[in-house]
Amino acid sequence: MSSKVTLVGAGLVGSLLSIFLAKKGHQVEVFERRPDYRKMGAVGGRSINLALSERGWRALKAAGIEQKIKDIALPMRGRMMHDIEGNLTFQPYGKENQAIYSVSRAILNEVLMDVAEKEQNVKFHFNQRCENIDIKDTEATFLNEEEQTKNRVKSDIVIGADGAFSAVRGELQKMPLFNYTQHYLPHGYKELTIPPNEDGSHKLAPDALHIWPRRSFMLIALPNTDGSFTCTLFLRFESDKEHQEAFDKLTSDEEIISFFETHFADVIPIMPTLLEDFKQNPTSSLVTIRCAPWAYQGKVCLIGDASHAIVPFYGQGMNSGFEDCFYFNEFMEKQLKKNKNIDWQELFSDFQEERIPNTNAIADLAIQNFIEMRDRVADPEFLLRKKIEAKLHEQFPSRWIPQYTMVTFSHLPYSYALNTGKKQEQIMNEIMKKEDIENNWQNLDWESIVEQLQS
Ligand code: FAD
Repeated sequence: MSSKVTLVGAGLVGSLLSIFLAKKGHQVEVFERRPDYRKMGAVGGRSINLALSERGWRALKAAGIEQKIKDIALPMRGRMMHDIEGNLTFQPYGKENQAIYSVSRAILNEVLMDVAEKEQNVKFHFNQRCENIDIKDTEATFLNEEEQTKNRVKSDIVIGADGAFSAVRGELQKMPLFNYTQHYLPHGYKELTIPPNEDGSHKLAPDALHIWPRRSFMLIALPNTDGSFTCTLFLRFESDKEHQEAFDKLTSDEEIISFFETHFADVIPIMPTLLEDFKQNPTSSLVTIRCAPWAYQGKVCLIGDASHAIVPFYGQGMNSGFEDCFYFNEFMEKQLKKNKNIDWQELFSDFQEERIPNTNAIADLAIQNFIEMRDRVADPEFLLRKKIEAKLHEQFPSRWIPQYTMVTFSHLPYSYALNTGKKQEQIMNEIMKKEDIENNWQNLDWESIVEQLQS
């Protein structure tokens, strides 16, 4: 039996979830605050891009659209580190055939909406901002900001996929026993661009995620299919005694150029619109949001960033949101094996039980990876650790899996990756204390190291 579903938000997660719901026969109405930008002309490959990895791919495969997305994605096989002198070092992310994929957020979202709209039982409504929800009656009110008209929609369930500043979560916050935290980093981010060469080729190696790690701040660049790179500068908003470099010190053309000359000299010749981009593009904040419960009775449920927004340093925000959709679909299948009608209350309960501990774990891992990316990736000791761990993984592929591999190239629960990674770190700390480890690491007793992890 089908249910009438109101889905708030046609972002990446809402659009993918609408496909899964439609394939199970539900009547899905998606309400999106923004206009339909597919009708406003292509945004093209220049827009912000995201790293898509195994968890995201598994969900896209289950929705039957893996190949469609492969066609618009570029593989990145490792990190290309740019040191202060402009020297390059390449660190593979995993084994030879493993890569994460750069994909344009706008194009990915467009493809997901196009696929969803082909299902007869999905309908998108744009310029519809969710204002409030009467949870007990599952009635949502939307405001059309262009026409200043209101629309009241009653359904069997309401799902909030409306992002980090979710209006649906705002309604749940009014319910008893709802827990909520938000935590801002002192860092913000700004997007910059490296355009393609005249012949359309990339100005940097296109099969890598480029990083300029500079201790308390960093610049990264991800390739686009049109030959350009989208770069993101992560830097503190405000300077203090310990941190002299911050956005508040970059107010004039001279200050901006001098900052780049000092820290990222090799990008200046390949960023012709640096000053314009820097001044025009906003400086945005980075927030971690956790909440529980995600659902109220069998009526309302949150998914994606609405329930677990994380900082972007593990490239897992969208991937974990897509993994939410994968599990949501699995739980719909579990219900359908038991009953003709879905018991939404039981489904929401299974869903949050599975996802809350794991999305809390990826929130911790994402903050941890910021420190690793900006501070440690350039450190020779860190590089040696990675080499030793790669050797362990090569010899014992299922008994020692590096944390990055667990998060990025497996479906192991994030909480398992967090806890196992902590144990691995303790073992590695002891190994790194061994005398002359730089020269003797090839002769370690590999079997006993792996046994320590298992014990
Ligand atoms: P959103 O993408 O935010 O979509 C929410 C939708 O709801 C939007 O369309 C919005 O307009 C709509 N909406 C909001 N409020 C309302 C309302 N009141 N009524 C109706 N509609 C509403 N993740 C990765 O996996 N890999 C990466 O490399 C990566 N890089 C990132 C880099 C940066 C700088 C940032 C900030 C994030 C990055 N992420 C990455 C995270 C990723 O962008 C998010 O996790 C993902 O977009 C979440 O999707 P969502 O659909 O839940 O939310």
